Amino acid sequence: MAKITLDNLAHSYSPAPKSEADFALKELNHVWNDGEAYALLGASGCGKTTLLNIISGLLTPSQGRIFFNDTDVTRAPTAERNIAQVFQFPVVYDTMTVHDNLAFPLRNRGREESYVTERVQEIARMIGMEHMLNRKARGLTADAKQKISLGRGMVRKDVNALLFDEPLTVIDPHMKWELRTQLKSLHHQFGHTMIYVTHDQTEALTFADKVVVMHSGRVVQIGTPQELFETPAHTFVGYFIGSPGMNVIPAIVEGNVASINGSRVPLGRGYGTPKGKVEIGVRPEFARLSSSEGLPVKVRRVEDVGRHKIIRAEFFGTDINILADEGAPIGADMNRVIFDPAHVNVYADDWRVEGEAA
Ligand code: ATP
Repeated sequence: MAKITLDNLAHSYSPAPKSEADFALKELNHVWNDGEAYALLGASGCGKTTLLNIISGLLTPSQGRIFFNDTDVTRAPTAERNIAQVFQFPVVYDTMTVHDNLAFPLRNRGREESYVTERVQEIARMIGMEHMLNRKARGLTADAKQKISLGRGMVRKDVNALLFDEPLTVIDPHMKWELRTQLKSLHHQFGHTMIYVTHDQTEALTFADKVVVMHSGRVVQIGTPQELFETPAHTFVGYFIGSPGMNVIPAIVEGNVASINGSRVPLGRGYGTPKGKVEIGVRPEFARLSSSEGLPVKVRRVEDVGRHKIIRAEFFGTDINILADEGAPIGADMNRVIFDPAHVNVYADDWRVEGEAA
Protein backbone atom coordinates (compact mmCIF):
# COMPACT_ATOMS: atom_id res chain seq x y z
CA MET A 1 0.00 0.00 0.00
CA ALA A 2 1.24 3.48 -0.68
CA LYS A 3 0.96 7.06 0.39
CA ILE A 4 0.30 9.15 -2.73
CA THR A 5 1.82 12.62 -2.95
CA LEU A 6 0.56 15.09 -5.54
CA ASP A 7 3.22 17.77 -5.80
CA ASN A 8 2.41 20.95 -7.71
CA LEU A 9 0.36 18.82 -10.07
CA ALA A 10 -1.64 20.31 -12.93
CA HIS A 11 -2.69 19.25 -16.39
CA SER A 12 -3.64 20.96 -19.61
CA TYR A 13 -4.66 19.04 -22.73
CA SER A 14 -3.51 22.05 -24.74
CA PRO A 15 0.17 21.91 -25.76
CA ALA A 16 0.60 25.63 -25.05
CA PRO A 17 -1.72 26.65 -22.21
CA LYS A 18 -2.02 30.42 -21.92
CA SER A 19 -4.11 30.85 -18.80
CA GLU A 20 -5.55 28.88 -15.91
CA ALA A 21 -8.72 28.34 -17.94
CA ASP A 22 -6.70 26.08 -20.29
CA PHE A 23 -6.00 23.62 -17.45
CA ALA A 24 -8.39 20.66 -17.08
CA LEU A 25 -6.73 20.09 -13.70
CA LYS A 26 -5.68 23.20 -11.77
CA GLU A 27 -2.63 23.11 -9.52
CA LEU A 28 -2.96 20.62 -6.70
CA ASN A 29 -0.72 19.88 -3.71
CA HIS A 30 -1.77 17.12 -1.40
CA VAL A 31 -0.73 13.96 0.36
CA TRP A 32 -3.21 11.09 0.27
CA ASN A 33 -2.60 8.84 3.24
CA ASP A 34 -1.57 5.24 2.99
CA GLY A 35 -4.54 2.96 3.53
CA GLU A 36 -7.28 5.56 3.27
CA ALA A 37 -10.32 5.38 0.99
CA TYR A 38 -10.83 8.51 -1.11
CA ALA A 39 -13.73 9.37 -3.38
CA LEU A 40 -13.24 11.85 -6.21
CA LEU A 41 -16.60 13.55 -6.51
CA GLY A 42 -17.83 16.19 -8.93
CA ALA A 43 -20.05 16.90 -11.90
CA SER A 44 -19.28 15.65 -15.38
CA GLY A 45 -16.24 17.36 -16.91
CA CYS A 46 -14.75 18.65 -13.64
CA GLY A 47 -11.50 16.71 -14.08
CA LYS A 48 -11.99 13.51 -12.07
CA THR A 49 -10.86 11.15 -14.82
CA THR A 50 -7.93 13.42 -15.67
CA LEU A 51 -6.66 13.18 -12.09
CA LEU A 52 -7.28 9.43 -11.90
CA ASN A 53 -5.44 8.87 -15.19
CA ILE A 54 -2.45 10.80 -13.88
CA ILE A 55 -2.40 8.58 -10.79
CA SER A 56 -2.71 5.41 -12.84
CA GLY A 57 -0.10 6.47 -15.39
CA LEU A 58 -2.40 6.67 -18.42
CA LEU A 59 -1.62 10.37 -18.59
CA THR A 60 1.60 12.31 -17.94
CA PRO A 61 0.81 15.61 -16.19
CA SER A 62 1.93 18.79 -17.93
CA GLN A 63 3.17 20.12 -14.60
CA GLY A 64 4.31 18.72 -11.25
CA ARG A 65 5.15 15.32 -9.87
CA ILE A 66 3.43 12.32 -8.34
CA PHE A 67 5.00 10.02 -5.76
CA PHE A 68 3.99 6.58 -4.49
CA ASN A 69 5.63 6.58 -1.06
CA ASP A 70 9.07 8.08 -1.83
CA THR A 71 9.24 6.95 -5.45
CA ASP A 72 8.65 9.52 -8.18
CA VAL A 73 6.30 7.74 -10.62
CA THR A 74 5.39 10.78 -12.74
CA ARG A 75 6.76 9.18 -15.88
CA ALA A 76 6.42 5.52 -14.91
CA PRO A 77 4.06 3.49 -17.12
CA THR A 78 0.95 1.96 -15.56
CA ALA A 79 2.51 -1.52 -15.52
CA GLU A 80 5.28 -0.32 -13.21
CA ARG A 81 2.95 1.29 -10.68
CA ASN A 82 1.61 -1.89 -9.14
CA ILE A 83 -1.99 -0.74 -9.04
CA ALA A 84 -5.32 -2.43 -9.69
CA GLN A 85 -7.95 -0.66 -11.74
CA VAL A 86 -11.67 -1.15 -12.23
CA PHE A 87 -13.32 0.82 -15.01
CA GLN A 88 -16.88 1.93 -15.71
CA PHE A 89 -17.52 -0.94 -18.09
CA PRO A 90 -16.48 -4.54 -17.47
CA VAL A 91 -13.17 -5.80 -18.76
CA VAL A 92 -13.28 -9.61 -18.63
CA TYR A 93 -11.87 -12.48 -20.63
CA ASP A 94 -14.99 -13.97 -22.22
CA THR A 95 -13.45 -17.34 -23.02
CA MET A 96 -12.26 -17.89 -19.45
CA THR A 97 -14.32 -19.09 -16.53
CA VAL A 98 -15.26 -16.75 -13.70
CA HIS A 99 -12.67 -18.57 -11.56
CA ASP A 100 -9.88 -18.05 -14.10
CA ASN A 101 -10.80 -14.40 -14.58
CA LEU A 102 -10.52 -13.81 -10.85
CA ALA A 103 -7.33 -15.85 -10.63
CA PHE A 104 -5.65 -14.04 -13.51
CA PRO A 105 -3.80 -11.25 -11.61
CA LEU A 106 -2.50 -13.77 -9.05
CA ARG A 107 -1.35 -16.36 -11.61
CA ASN A 108 0.24 -13.57 -13.59
CA ARG A 109 2.46 -12.92 -10.61
CA GLY A 110 3.25 -16.57 -10.11
CA ARG A 111 1.31 -17.11 -6.89
CA GLU A 112 0.91 -20.72 -5.77
CA GLU A 113 -2.25 -22.48 -6.98
CA SER A 114 -3.37 -23.30 -3.42
CA TYR A 115 -3.25 -19.61 -2.49
CA VAL A 116 -5.00 -18.67 -5.75
CA THR A 117 -7.88 -21.08 -5.08
CA GLU A 118 -8.32 -19.86 -1.53
CA ARG A 119 -8.23 -16.19 -2.49
CA VAL A 120 -10.57 -16.66 -5.48
CA GLN A 121 -13.08 -18.39 -3.18
CA GLU A 122 -12.89 -15.52 -0.73
CA ILE A 123 -13.43 -12.86 -3.40
CA ALA A 124 -16.19 -14.87 -5.11
CA ARG A 125 -18.02 -14.99 -1.79
CA MET A 126 -17.67 -11.25 -1.45
CA ILE A 127 -19.17 -10.54 -4.88
CA GLY A 128 -21.80 -13.29 -4.55
CA MET A 129 -20.49 -15.46 -7.40
CA GLU A 130 -19.32 -18.63 -5.65
CA HIS A 131 -21.95 -20.67 -7.45
CA MET A 132 -20.78 -19.43 -10.86
CA LEU A 133 -17.04 -20.03 -10.63
CA ASN A 134 -17.03 -22.67 -13.37
CA ARG A 135 -19.17 -20.70 -15.82
CA LYS A 136 -17.55 -19.06 -18.81
CA ALA A 137 -17.75 -15.27 -18.62
CA ARG A 138 -19.25 -15.17 -22.12
CA GLY A 139 -23.03 -14.88 -21.91
CA LEU A 140 -23.09 -13.42 -18.41
CA THR A 141 -24.99 -10.15 -17.89
CA ALA A 142 -23.11 -6.82 -17.85
CA ASP A 143 -23.88 -6.69 -14.16
CA ALA A 144 -22.24 -10.04 -13.46
CA LYS A 145 -19.26 -9.18 -15.67
CA GLN A 146 -18.70 -5.97 -13.75
CA LYS A 147 -18.75 -7.92 -10.51
CA ILE A 148 -15.96 -10.06 -11.96
CA SER A 149 -14.02 -6.88 -12.83
CA LEU A 150 -14.46 -5.63 -9.28
CA GLY A 151 -13.39 -8.97 -7.89
CA ARG A 152 -10.33 -9.09 -10.13
CA GLY A 153 -9.43 -5.56 -9.01
CA MET A 154 -9.58 -6.62 -5.39
CA VAL A 155 -7.95 -10.03 -5.59
CA ARG A 156 -4.36 -8.90 -4.95
CA LYS A 157 -3.51 -7.74 -1.46
CA ASP A 158 -0.11 -6.27 -2.33
CA VAL A 159 -1.06 -3.42 -4.68
CA ASN A 160 0.01 0.19 -4.08
CA ALA A 161 -3.51 1.44 -4.71
CA LEU A 162 -6.89 0.37 -6.00
CA LEU A 163 -8.45 2.77 -8.50
CA PHE A 164 -12.13 2.68 -9.41
CA ASP A 165 -13.64 4.82 -12.18
CA GLU A 166 -17.44 4.94 -11.71
CA PRO A 167 -17.45 1.14 -11.26
CA LEU A 168 -21.10 0.76 -10.35
CA THR A 169 -22.60 2.46 -13.43
CA VAL A 170 -23.77 -0.81 -15.00
CA ILE A 171 -24.74 -2.47 -11.72
CA ASP A 172 -28.36 -3.03 -10.86
CA PRO A 173 -29.56 -0.41 -8.31
CA HIS A 174 -30.28 -2.91 -5.50
CA MET A 175 -26.89 -4.53 -5.97
CA LYS A 176 -25.08 -1.17 -5.87
CA TRP A 177 -25.66 -0.74 -2.17
CA GLU A 178 -24.48 -4.26 -1.46
CA LEU A 179 -21.30 -3.94 -3.50
CA ARG A 180 -20.50 -0.56 -1.99
CA THR A 181 -20.85 -2.05 1.48
CA GLN A 182 -18.61 -4.94 0.49
CA LEU A 183 -15.98 -2.60 -0.91
CA LYS A 184 -16.02 -0.71 2.33
CA SER A 185 -15.66 -3.83 4.44
CA LEU A 186 -12.85 -5.00 2.18
CA HIS A 187 -11.15 -1.69 2.77
CA HIS A 188 -11.43 -2.12 6.53
CA GLN A 189 -10.11 -5.65 6.25
CA PHE A 190 -7.09 -5.02 4.03
CA GLY A 191 -6.42 -1.30 4.40
CA HIS A 192 -5.81 -0.68 0.70
CA THR A 193 -5.30 2.89 -0.47
CA MET A 194 -8.43 3.29 -2.57
CA ILE A 195 -9.47 6.01 -4.99
CA TYR A 196 -13.01 5.90 -6.22
CA VAL A 197 -14.32 8.26 -8.92
CA THR A 198 -18.02 9.07 -8.92
CA HIS A 199 -20.47 11.85 -9.63
CA ASP A 200 -22.92 10.34 -7.14
CA GLN A 201 -22.72 11.90 -3.69
CA THR A 202 -24.37 8.92 -1.95
CA GLU A 203 -21.73 6.62 -3.39
CA ALA A 204 -18.94 8.98 -2.34
CA LEU A 205 -20.23 9.65 1.14
CA THR A 206 -20.96 6.02 2.00
CA PHE A 207 -17.75 4.61 0.58
CA ALA A 208 -15.01 7.07 1.47
CA ASP A 209 -13.07 8.14 4.55
CA LYS A 210 -12.29 11.36 2.72
CA VAL A 211 -14.16 12.90 -0.17
CA VAL A 212 -12.23 15.01 -2.69
CA VAL A 213 -14.74 17.43 -4.20
CA MET A 214 -13.80 18.80 -7.62
CA HIS A 215 -15.31 21.73 -9.47
CA SER A 216 -14.14 23.16 -12.80
CA GLY A 217 -10.78 21.40 -12.64
CA ARG A 218 -10.08 22.44 -9.08
CA VAL A 219 -10.10 20.44 -5.86
CA VAL A 220 -12.34 22.63 -3.73
CA GLN A 221 -12.34 20.53 -0.57
CA ILE A 222 -10.93 17.30 0.81
CA GLY A 223 -12.83 16.29 3.89
CA THR A 224 -14.79 13.71 5.80
CA PRO A 225 -18.48 13.46 4.97
CA GLN A 226 -19.18 15.36 8.20
CA GLU A 227 -16.81 18.20 7.29
CA LEU A 228 -18.42 18.53 3.86
CA PHE A 229 -21.79 18.70 5.51
CA GLU A 230 -21.00 21.09 8.36
CA THR A 231 -18.30 23.31 6.94
CA PRO A 232 -18.37 23.30 3.13
CA ALA A 233 -15.17 25.09 2.07
CA HIS A 234 -16.76 26.46 -1.10
CA THR A 235 -20.36 27.30 -1.99
CA PHE A 236 -20.19 24.58 -4.68
CA VAL A 237 -19.61 21.93 -1.99
CA GLY A 238 -22.62 23.32 -0.14
CA TYR A 239 -24.84 23.04 -3.23
CA PHE A 240 -23.49 19.72 -4.46
CA ILE A 241 -23.54 17.79 -1.19
CA GLY A 242 -26.88 17.41 0.50
CA SER A 243 -30.37 17.01 -0.80
CA PRO A 244 -31.45 19.73 -1.05
CA GLY A 245 -28.12 21.54 -0.91
CA MET A 246 -27.06 24.46 1.25
CA ASN A 247 -28.95 27.75 1.04
CA VAL A 248 -26.66 30.57 -0.09
CA ILE A 249 -27.95 34.05 0.70
CA PRO A 250 -26.31 37.40 -0.15
CA ALA A 251 -25.57 39.36 3.02
CA ILE A 252 -23.46 42.08 4.59
CA VAL A 253 -21.35 40.64 7.38
CA GLU A 254 -19.90 42.67 10.24
CA GLY A 255 -18.38 40.89 13.21
CA ASN A 256 -20.81 38.26 14.39
CA VAL A 257 -23.89 39.60 12.62
CA ALA A 258 -25.08 39.16 9.02
CA SER A 259 -27.53 41.74 7.64
CA ILE A 260 -29.96 40.80 4.94
CA ASN A 261 -31.97 43.77 3.71
CA GLY A 262 -31.39 45.39 7.08
CA SER A 263 -32.57 42.36 9.06
CA ARG A 264 -30.06 40.79 11.42
CA VAL A 265 -28.98 37.14 11.49
CA PRO A 266 -26.75 36.26 14.46
CA LEU A 267 -23.59 34.27 13.65
CA GLY A 268 -21.77 31.80 15.88
CA ARG A 269 -18.32 33.32 15.19
CA GLY A 270 -16.76 36.71 14.46
CA TYR A 271 -15.80 37.53 10.85
CA GLY A 272 -14.58 41.12 10.85
CA THR A 273 -15.74 42.71 7.58
CA PRO A 274 -15.15 40.21 4.76
CA LYS A 275 -14.64 41.75 1.31
CA GLY A 276 -15.86 40.75 -2.14
CA LYS A 277 -19.11 38.88 -2.86
CA VAL A 278 -20.29 38.05 0.67
CA GLU A 279 -22.90 35.38 1.35
CA ILE A 280 -24.06 33.27 4.22
CA GLY A 281 -24.59 29.53 3.78
CA VAL A 282 -27.02 27.57 5.87
CA ARG A 283 -28.15 24.02 5.28
CA PRO A 284 -31.90 23.29 5.22
CA GLU A 285 -31.29 21.00 8.22
CA PHE A 286 -30.22 24.02 10.31
CA ALA A 287 -33.14 26.26 9.36
CA ARG A 288 -36.46 26.08 11.18
CA LEU A 289 -39.89 27.57 10.50
CA SER A 290 -41.56 29.46 13.33
CA SER A 291 -44.70 31.50 13.91
CA SER A 292 -43.14 33.80 16.49
CA GLU A 293 -39.36 34.15 16.14
CA GLY A 294 -36.86 34.86 13.39
CA LEU A 295 -37.04 36.67 10.07
CA PRO A 296 -39.97 36.83 7.64
CA VAL A 297 -40.17 34.15 4.95
CA LYS A 298 -42.79 33.35 2.27
CA VAL A 299 -43.61 29.64 2.14
CA ARG A 300 -44.23 28.63 -1.50
CA ARG A 301 -44.90 24.92 -1.06
CA VAL A 302 -44.30 21.97 1.22
CA GLU A 303 -43.06 18.64 -0.18
CA ASP A 304 -43.45 15.48 1.82
CA VAL A 305 -40.49 13.26 0.95
CA GLY A 306 -40.93 10.49 3.50
CA ARG A 307 -38.61 10.94 6.45
CA HIS A 308 -39.02 14.72 6.41
CA LYS A 309 -40.72 17.63 4.70
CA ILE A 310 -38.96 20.11 2.43
CA ILE A 311 -40.35 23.63 2.68
CA ARG A 312 -39.65 25.67 -0.45
CA ALA A 313 -39.68 29.33 0.48
CA GLU A 314 -38.58 32.81 -0.52
CA PHE A 315 -36.37 34.77 1.82
CA PHE A 316 -35.69 38.40 0.84
CA GLY A 317 -35.75 37.50 -2.86
CA THR A 318 -33.64 34.30 -2.53
CA ASP A 319 -35.17 30.84 -2.90
CA ILE A 320 -34.38 28.76 0.17
CA ASN A 321 -35.21 25.30 1.50
CA ILE A 322 -36.05 24.43 5.08
CA LEU A 323 -36.39 20.92 6.50
CA ALA A 324 -39.04 19.91 8.99
CA ASP A 325 -39.77 16.56 10.62
CA GLU A 326 -42.24 14.29 8.88
CA GLY A 327 -44.92 14.80 11.55
CA ALA A 328 -44.31 18.51 12.17
CA PRO A 329 -47.42 20.63 11.56
CA ILE A 330 -46.82 23.53 9.15
CA GLY A 331 -49.45 26.14 10.00
CA ALA A 332 -50.38 29.10 7.81
CA ASP A 333 -49.04 31.38 10.55
CA MET A 334 -45.53 29.89 10.27
CA ASN A 335 -44.03 32.70 8.24
CA ARG A 336 -40.71 33.18 9.99
CA VAL A 337 -37.42 31.35 9.76
CA ILE A 338 -34.65 30.84 12.33
CA PHE A 339 -31.10 29.79 11.41
CA ASP A 340 -28.98 27.95 13.95
CA PRO A 341 -26.12 30.47 14.47
CA ALA A 342 -23.54 27.71 15.09
CA HIS A 343 -24.28 26.31 11.61
CA VAL A 344 -24.31 29.48 9.55
CA ASN A 345 -21.16 29.69 7.42
CA VAL A 346 -19.86 32.87 5.84
CA TYR A 347 -18.49 32.99 2.27
CA ALA A 348 -16.45 35.64 0.50
CA ASP A 349 -16.17 35.15 -3.28
CA ASP A 350 -17.51 31.59 -2.79
CA TRP A 351 -14.79 30.50 -0.32
CA ARG A 352 -15.61 29.89 3.34
CA VAL A 353 -14.27 32.44 5.81
CA GLU A 354 -12.96 30.68 8.90
CA GLY A 355 -14.08 33.24 11.48
CA GLU A 356 -12.98 33.45 15.09
CA ALA A 357 -14.64 32.18 18.22
CA ALA A 358 -16.97 34.97 19.30
P1 ATP B 1 -16.88 12.66 -16.62
O1 ATP B 1 -17.55 12.36 -15.32
O2 ATP B 1 -17.84 13.15 -17.67
O3 ATP B 1 -15.96 11.57 -17.10
P2 ATP B 1 -14.65 14.07 -15.49
O4 ATP B 1 -14.93 14.82 -14.25
O5 ATP B 1 -13.98 12.76 -15.38
O6 ATP B 1 -15.97 13.94 -16.36
P3 ATP B 1 -12.52 14.75 -17.32
O7 ATP B 1 -12.85 13.62 -18.23
O8 ATP B 1 -11.30 14.63 -16.50
O9 ATP B 1 -13.76 15.06 -16.37
O10 ATP B 1 -12.46 16.08 -18.19
C1 ATP B 1 -12.04 17.34 -17.67
C2 ATP B 1 -11.97 18.35 -18.82
O11 ATP B 1 -10.93 17.98 -19.72
C3 ATP B 1 -13.23 18.43 -19.64
O12 ATP B 1 -13.44 19.77 -20.00
C4 ATP B 1 -12.93 17.58 -20.86
O13 ATP B 1 -13.64 18.05 -21.99
C5 ATP B 1 -11.44 17.81 -21.03
N1 ATP B 1 -10.78 16.64 -21.63
C6 ATP B 1 -10.80 15.37 -21.14
N2 ATP B 1 -10.06 14.53 -21.91
C7 ATP B 1 -9.54 15.30 -22.90
C8 ATP B 1 -8.67 15.04 -24.01
N3 ATP B 1 -8.19 13.82 -24.25
N4 ATP B 1 -8.38 16.08 -24.82
C9 ATP B 1 -8.85 17.32 -24.59
N5 ATP B 1 -9.65 17.65 -23.57
C10 ATP B 1 -10.01 16.65 -22.73
